[in-house]
Amino acid sequence: MSPISFKTRFAPSPTGFLHIGHAASVWTVWEDAGQSPENFLLRIEDIDQTRCKPEFEQSIYEDLAWLGLSWKPPILRQSEHFKDYKNTLDTLHQKGLIYPCFCTRKEIELEILYSATAPHGTEGLIYPGTCRHLSHSQQTEKMNASIPYALRLDTHKAWSHLSTHQLYWHDRIKGKQETTEKLLLSSLGDPVLARKDTPASYHLCVTHDDNLQDISLITRGKDLFFSTHLHRLLQELLGYNVPEYHHHPLLTDNHGKQFSKRNHSLTLRDLRNKGLEVKTLRNMILHGNIKELLV
Ligand code: GLU
Repeated sequence: MSPISFKTRFAPSPTGFLHIGHAASVWTVWEDAGQSPENFLLRIEDIDQTRCKPEFEQSIYEDLAWLGLSWKPPILRQSEHFKDYKNTLDTLHQKGLIYPCFCTRKEIELEILYSATAPHGTEGLIYPGTCRHLSHSQQTEKMNASIPYALRLDTHKAWSHLSTHQLYWHDRIKGKQETTEKLLLSSLGDPVLARKDTPASYHLCVTHDDNLQDISLITRGKDLFFSTHLHRLLQELLGYNVPEYHHHPLLTDNHGKQFSKRNHSLTLRDLRNKGLEVKTLRNMILHGNIKELLV
């Protein structure tokens, strides 16, 4: 039996309509929550104000209601927590663990092109650390010239700052995992924690919010498996609780491609409008038999 305070969450971003991949994911979360709204929280990850739209948020509520799901209030909306994220960034800044990076994407690509090795991480090319060693006066000069900048975590420094170097977490499918400096540097490098247009990154907000909402089990797609190593580091730096994880397999289309909002995958509202029964959809997803929806 689950303890009374057991909590899991679904955390969609309102940047498009939910698709069948989301249905598969949210049902996994719902199962992990013991199918009880008491254990199931909803978070709207609307940090990217340039891409999030009220109509997409509204459709999340409609789609989840159609799927027959309900959650324990209140809903956490990230756009109402900018101050918290700023405080979290300040904490890391005071520890001397973040630095401003003035490089454009193009400059980073060129720098990598001309370097002897071109390391690839799980989120693309690894930032070569160009701005890591700028002096305080160089940073001030660039800021005074209004050059836009992102804030990056100095992963090596952050790792050295820890009082323990034994960081573990547990995944329900893959078992015990160890986060190491080598793994962090080779998979994510010095990740961006804030940008001009998004004052806090996904990584920072999600780690903060999972702690704030006291989440015990994080169920999400396995595409985020490597990000969890970074989240584990942030948890340690910020003194947060360490939840359990369940990175589930992703639903894919006929070509083995993951569904995404960008490639206009079948949306739940499309399926609903076509008259598909939720029970039918659930069975199809459960048995990995969604082929007839894809034609
Ligand atoms: N907003 C993220 C997404 O839609 C949630 C990731 C997570 O569950 O941590 O992919």
